[in-house]
Amino acid sequence: MKTKKRTKSADLAEIITKVVGHERPLYLHEPEFGELDKKLVLDCIETGWVSSTGRYVEEFEKKICEFTGANYAVVVTNGTSALHLSLIEAGAGPQDEILCPAVTFVATANAISYVGATPHFIDSSLSTLGIDPSALDAYLETIAETKDGVTFNKHSGKKIRFIMPVHVFGHPVDMDMLVDVSNKHNLSIIEDASEGLGSFHNGIHVGLFGRSGVLSFNGNKILTTGGGGAIITDSIKIAERLKHLSTTAKVNSGYEFIHDEVGYNYRLPNLNAALGCAQIEHLPSALKRKRKLANKYKQEFDKHADFRFIEEPENCKSNFWLNAIFCENANHAEVIQIINDLEQYGIFCRPIWKLMPKLKMYSFSPKAPLIKAESIERTLISLPSSAKLGD
Ligand SMILES: *Cc1c(COP(=O)(O)O)cnc(C)c1O
Repeated sequence: MKTKKRTKSADLAEIITKVVGHERPLYLHEPEFGELDKKLVLDCIETGWVSSTGRYVEEFEKKICEFTGANYAVVVTNGTSALHLSLIEAGAGPQDEILCPAVTFVATANAISYVGATPHFIDSSLSTLGIDPSALDAYLETIAETKDGVTFNKHSGKKIRFIMPVHVFGHPVDMDMLVDVSNKHNLSIIEDASEGLGSFHNGIHVGLFGRSGVLSFNGNKILTTGGGGAIITDSIKIAERLKHLSTTAKVNSGYEFIHDEVGYNYRLPNLNAALGCAQIEHLPSALKRKRKLANKYKQEFDKHADFRFIEEPENCKSNFWLNAIFCENANHAEVIQIINDLEQYGIFCRPIWKLMPKLKMYSFSPKAPLIKAESIERTLISLPSSAKLGD
């Protein structure tokens, strides 16, 4: 008698259905809007305060501080401009090679390029999906040297003064260890916490471990303002300079247009900030439902040897922005096949980003051995993760 061999695609579709039910299509991450969102956006339109001034901008910054515990927040047009400004504020430039993971969204590396610096790609951890601090330490021991308290790449002669950890899918990097390794090698930390709103490491919100930290409010993130971003920091000096840079570096000079350096038009419009003020009210509920969804996924995936669910790292609270699995022992072609197969059922899954050095503009950038990063790229599948699926 013939028995039909079950495919991994069919297994995965069955698991997802068990967890979230039969609703289709299932997108990766859908935004949620309620009455308050409409009311506050409408208020901007009715009062005419839609653009670069208005009460919602400062109110949103205050709410971000309350939620994250940051002393200061500066809201800007998107996460990418937030990364760009953070690097300008830190003084990064063409003399710098800036460490960042090969496993990230392209914006991290692009922001490094905007200031004329070179991204230097490092490996990741299979348990956090982010930088592995001990592997980083070992790598720097082989390629770096210190002169007068500044770390240099022995081979290129460039300065290595900054590191940009990324909290991939909202799972915090092991920041305690990373802070230690960074101190040891004279590195200043700028966190790309774009995916990490609502994630904590040892009770501290991500983005608050270094000089500054970036959040994104793009449409696919856990909180959206349409487009938007923020930089959080505990330093008033850094916050004031970021705000100055984001508002064309205009000096407070009455009616005169006086700008004291090359500034940027990166301030978040009031219209978007109004949406942010409403969205942040639903954030605790979204986080609760996303955690519920993640627990259900974990329970089901634990029964299947082919798939390994990516769990919350130790001592951390993840926001579970995107749930994901490793498709154990699969090659990348198989992963892409599974994703294509699931699309036929109306289930939209995705692979993770191509490793940065595989993109042509970063193919000549310096990089560490990327063994774990390669494995993450090859076998990861991200799953439908909208908060409403946790209901
Ligand atoms: C979303 C995201 C960004 C950029 O955010 P935008 O608001 O889209 O510019 C940067 N880095 C990572 C890791 C992201 O996920």
